[in-house]
Amino acid sequence: MKLVKDTDKTLINKDQITDQQAEEAFKTILQWIGEDPNREGLLETPKRVVKAFKEYFKGYQQDPIIELKKTFGDVDGYDDMVIEKNISLESHCEHHMAPIIGVAHVAYIPKTKVVGLSKLARTVEIFSKRLQTQERLTMQIANTLMTGLDAKGVAVTIDAAHQCMTMRGIKKEKATTVTNYFLGSFKDDLSFQNRYLRLISK
Ligand SMILES: [Zn+2]
Repeated sequence: MKLVKDTDKTLINKDQITDQQAEEAFKTILQWIGEDPNREGLLETPKRVVKAFKEYFKGYQQDPIIELKKTFGDVDGYDDMVIEKNISLESHCEHHMAPIIGVAHVAYIPKTKVVGLSKLARTVEIFSKRLQTQERLTMQIANTLMTGLDAKGVAVTIDAAHQCMTMRGIKKEKATTVTNYFLGSFKDDLSFQNRYLRLISK
């Protein structure tokens, strides 16, 4: 039995549903849209979709705090912001399960420890591979980095297109959504915040 942490930190038992049951569910959906799930081109589709969903939602099985603990090094006196720009982001909205595609910019100001740069992108990825709202995703990344790095400040920006907006509903194909979240020095000191915003917009 595998217990998975959901976004509200309650434990859910994922293994109550087997891959086969999930495949059956996708077969039903194929029929429901008007397809014949038994025609040749679709025979393996439910299996492939289940495999793809495991990839889209693998973040439920991963803990970003454990990742951040792995690669600490001494700060060596560096006391300014570290920015990782244009981290590609693929998530799914929790309202339509439609893709959210965009970029994340992440910055932190170290206190005593620095972290490998790949860990910033990794934190973005773990929270992205869950059902999300962009607002919550932005805050979860920021709060986790703030705690996990014991940082002086953290800034997170996400600029993304929601396919539930661009492919359905009001069909605004060029619309993107920008969210920002600031903690510590980035929240309290506007000079840090302004410099961050200027640097990510370059
Ligand atoms: Zn949506």
